[in-house]
Order: sequence, then structure tokens, then C-alpha cells
Amino acid sequence: MLKKYLSLRWVLLGTAIVTILGLTAMNVFSLFRLHQTTIESDLENKKLQVSEFTDKVHHRFFNPYWGIDKLDMDHTQRVFEQTGQFPPAFQRHIEQAAADSIFTDIYFKPHGCRACQNETSLLRFDQLDRKFKPTTEYSEFVCDGMGIARTRMKVLIDEYRFNYKSIFDTHYSMTLALINLSEQEIFGYLTMLIDQDYLVNEYLHKELVRRFGNPDSSGVVVWLRDWTKDETVISSDHARTFDEDKVQYKQRFPDFFDNWTLKVAFTESPTIAASKASLFKNFAVLGGAVVILLGAIGFIFVTAQKERALAERQAGFLANVTHELKTPLAVMQAAGENLADGRVDNKERLQSYGRHIHSEALRLKRMIEKLLDVAKADAGQSIIEPKPVDLNRLVQRYLDNHEPYINNKGFTLDISMDESLPPVMVDEDSFNTIIGNLVENAIKYSEDEKYIGIQLQKKHTQVRLEIEDHGVGIPRSAIKHIFEKFYRVEDSLTAQSKGHGLGLSIVKNLVELNGGTIQVDSVKGNGSTFIVEFPILVDPGNNGKGTTDEQSQQHINQQDKPQYVG
Ligand code: ADP
Repeated sequence: MLKKYLSLRWVLLGTAIVTILGLTAMNVFSLFRLHQTTIESDLENKKLQVSEFTDKVHHRFFNPYWGIDKLDMDHTQRVFEQTGQFPPAFQRHIEQAAADSIFTDIYFKPHGCRACQNETSLLRFDQLDRKFKPTTEYSEFVCDGMGIARTRMKVLIDEYRFNYKSIFDTHYSMTLALINLSEQEIFGYLTMLIDQDYLVNEYLHKELVRRFGNPDSSGVVVWLRDWTKDETVISSDHARTFDEDKVQYKQRFPDFFDNWTLKVAFTESPTIAASKASLFKNFAVLGGAVVILLGAIGFIFVTAQKERALAERQAGFLANVTHELKTPLAVMQAAGENLADGRVDNKERLQSYGRHIHSEALRLKRMIEKLLDVAKADAGQSIIEPKPVDLNRLVQRYLDNHEPYINNKGFTLDISMDESLPPVMVDEDSFNTIIGNLVENAIKYSEDEKYIGIQLQKKHTQVRLEIEDHGVGIPRSAIKHIFEKFYRVEDSLTAQSKGHGLGLSIVKNLVELNGGTIQVDSVKGNGSTFIVEFPILVDPGNNGKGTTDEQSQQHINQQDKPQYVG
């Protein structure tokens, strides 16, 4: 049943971990997708802004001519042929174009006029008189623009469907071919020269800087490049020189400025930066949550395992202890009965019964004392009376009482004590229990090599007691558990030896109550050394050098009241 629960526990643990990891992976994936989508839509948005820019420039050129597609060009042509001027509805557009700083002069070449081919005059719009007047002085750009327009119009295979068609000669001129739809013929070419300086420096540059000037907020750097000359005309950010490798997007002007291309490099915009920051924040929070969750599950699992192991050990202990208590009682009961019945009259046998009862009673007493010690430690009611003591004296007293017993067990004792040890604050009974348990263990857990080394020396600010044996040693994995209650190493020798896994837990508790520390140095098969250290009693006036016996005595008077610790 227990096994079934145990495997169920492992299955649940596995499922929980897989679920957490699965959910985390899904979250990471969707967060990443979200970030990718943000980047993509941000890029699309930037491209849109660049194409909005070219559209705006396009509209800028047609501004003065807004609505001429609705004019009757047949009427316009007739009025022009009769008066040499355009009717008011058309004239209004021309005046608007003339007032626009983007154009310098406006010329008109009626159909059939041979201007540009010989020295024939061309009509130029006079700003003051607001009339077209013949002139022979016109720049070659006018003729270039009109020439290109005528060639284009000739090759237009479609029938004329609109009353005008606009043609640009790169960025020098804009020509409107005016079309009489009812006659299906072109009745003249209206050419506007473009003011280069104004176009580039006033209009395009300012517009570019206004829209994309701050790459930190726009997220783009735009260069207007003349590809015929391989040079930069203007750029949105002067600080960044043109670099073809950084160009990620290109955009031409629709139908005009043939020589020019906009080249665009994308920089990190605030949207991307914010998305990145939120991605990292999300990852950090997610990572933290996963670590905490896994840690919590691991913790719950480990503590549950520990509790289960403790419960198992306690159950074993109870069975064991009952047996241990019953055995001496049974021996004493039988011996007592025999004595009471008066069946034993032989003196030697009487003595033997007495010894039996005595030794079993002692065993029982030790057992009960141990149990009481553990119970007290558990309830936090251990009573200790620390006094400044010379540990040499306590060790010597222990040896005086136990050396014959140890020798009887076949052990060689190797004692090394530093005669001039400073005093430490220790409860004598506690120390006896500590050394007694450690020596008892050294005896219990030794096989062929029966050696016990006891060393007492000063180490920096501590007095150190070392109890060494050449016994079975402790496996590395068990070392961290041996001070736990009820813990016993599972091996054949431990199984044979009497014990309940309480001795070292009592020792550790007492060492710590007396302000000391305990550690073990052991290799399986090579023996163990238990190291107990107590801090040297420091006299404030003696710079930490320890105290004399007299000084210690004064301490006793101040501190010899029992202390209830726990
Ligand atoms: P007990 O001796 O009653 O089992 P302890 O708490 O004194 O309980 O010791 C716990 C376990 O530590 C022992 O069961 C034994 O396996 C191991 N141990 C203690 N002292 C030694 C030692 N000197 N050498 C080897 N193993 C030891």
C-alpha cells in the first residue's frame, strides 16, 4: 500500500514538473510570438510612413491643379485659340501654380508650335500682368520637359481618357499635356520649372526631418539618394552617414523624381524597445515564478520524504524500544522470582542473580535516561548548568571511570591532552554524556582494529575534543543524517549492534546548548573522528587570552545558576 502511494507520489511529482515546464514553454513561445508580431507590425508601420511621405510630395506638386480634371478642355482650347489666354476657371489654377514657391516659371506651348526646335517664341506666364506672353528666352530644361512629354504622349497607346496627363522630367520640370477629349487631341503643353533649391532644401529636407528627424522616436533613418550620381541628396539625420549595408528598405517616388530613391535603415523604435523591455520583464517574472514553483514542489516533496522516513524510523524505534525495555524487565522478573521463591541458596548463584539484576537495572536506567533526554530536548526543556571548567579534568575523570571497561573490550586507548588548556563554559553532566556517547559509538562501530584516540587541545579560540576510531566509518551519503533522531546507517554491523539512533542527536543537542559545535570526519572502512569544539571563556580584561582559575571562579559565581535552555 505504502509502495503504491510512493510511486503515485513520484508520478504526481513528474506530472506537476512536466505541466509547469510545458506551460512555461507555451508562455515563452507566445510571448516571443507577440514580440515578433510587434516587430513586424512596427516595420510595416515604418514602411507605411515612408510611402506616406512620397504620396505627400506627389500631392504637393498637384496642389495648384486640384480640380482641373473636371474642366472642359474643349472650351479651354477654344477660348485660348480666340484670345491667346486661358478662360478664368483654368487661369485660376495657373495663378496658383505661379504663386507656389516650388515652381519658378510657367510656359505654354500650343499644339503645332515649333518652339524648341528653332528660335520660335514660346508663351511664358507673366506674373505681373497675369498673362501668357511670347518669349524666346527659355532654359533648355523647358524644352527637355516638353520634349519628354511629347514623346511620352506619342507612345501612349490607350485612347486619351483624362483631360490632362502629367509628366516629370526627373526633378527639373513638371509638364501637363492638356487633352481635348472630344477631339481626342493634345492642344498644348504646360511646363512648370521646378525651383531646385526650394525643392531640396526647403521642402523635401524640412519634411524629411519633420517626419523622421528623431530616429529615437521614429525608428528610421532616411537618405534621399541620387542613384545616377551615387550620392546622397539629403537625409533625415545628418549625424548618420549613408551606409548601404544598413539599408533595409527602398522606396521610389511614384511616377516622378526618376533619379531619386529613398533608402531606409530601421533603428530601434520606442515600440520595439518597450516590447523588448516587457518581454524581458515577462521572462524574468515567469522564470522567477517557475523557479519558486519548482522549488516549492521540490521542498514539499523532500520534506514529505523526510517525514515519511522519520515516521518509518519512529515506528521501528517503538518496536525496538519496547523489546529493549521488556528484555531487562523479563530477566529481572525471572531472577526476582527465583530469589523470592527461596529456590536459590548457593552464595555464588545468589551473587550472580544480584549482578544480573543490577546490570539489567543499569541498562534500563540508561535507556530511560536517553529517552528522557530526547523528550526534554524535543520539548525544549533540557536543563544545563554551564560553569567554567578545565576539560582536562573532565576527560581525566571520565577515563578514570571507564578506562578499565574500554580496555576490557580489547581497545587500545591513545590519549593526548594539552595540559594548559584555557577554561570553557560547559555543563559537566552534558560533557559526560557527550564523551560517553562518542566513546560508546567508537566501541560499537569498530571491528578488528580496536583503537580509540582521545585528543584535547586548544585551537584558535576553541578547545577541541577529538574522538577517533579505526572502525567501520560512515558512508559519505549518511554523514549528513547521522545527527538526526532515529537515524541509523543501514549496514550489517549497525544491525548487529544495539542502538536506536538517538545517541548522536542527544550529543549534538547538548553540544549546541553548551555553545559548541560538532562535526565528523569519516571515510567508510577507514574509521571516524568526531570533533567537538567549545569556545574558550573570554575574560574581557584579558584580551581573549583565556582566564586563570581564580578569574574563572569569579565567573562561576555570576553564572552558576542553572540555565533552562531549549
Ligand atoms: P545508535 O548508535 O544508537 O544507532 P547514534 O545516534 O549514536 O545511534 O548513531 C547514529 C548512527 O551513526 C549509528 O547507527 C551508526 O550507523 C553511525 N555512527 C555513529 N558513530 C559511529 C562511529 N564512530 N563509527 C561509525 N558509525 C557511527
